[in-house]
Amino acid sequence: MTDSLILPCAHCGQLNRVPQERLGDKPICAECARPLSGGHPAELDPRRFEILISRSALPVLIDFWAPWCGPCRMMAPWFAEAAEALAGRAILAKLDTQAHPDLGGRHQVQSIPTMILFEGGREKARQSGAMQAPQILSWFQSQA
Ligand code: ZN
Repeated sequence: MTDSLILPCAHCGQLNRVPQERLGDKPICAECARPLSGGHPAELDPRRFEILISRSALPVLIDFWAPWCGPCRMMAPWFAEAAEALAGRAILAKLDTQAHPDLGGRHQVQSIPTMILFEGGREKARQSGAMQAPQILSWFQSQA
């Protein structure tokens, strides 16, 4: 008896079915062979954003950012570090609000960087301001 979970690939949008007990083994996408959870956060487009939010069995943490935002660029390596640390527990990805302002607007992102945690297709929590990797992790854990 194994439960399998649907994990959309943040990099290509492919839906992958992963047995629950394999989550810790850094499962990769059947289509593009990139890590489904852990590894470098994908830069989302609107299509993959929607697939991720609506279909992921794991919590999804999105970093809303923009290239002109200094604190956002400062936070990028910390967010990538957190993504690696949360492998098998969450999918972390980024959304460029300059390239996709409609998505930032729809989710009422007032300032960047803002992280929004989605679970089961709905927003569960959000946090604004640049955070280092340990802060991101403890914030994530406080929401679990
Ligand atoms: Zn993929």
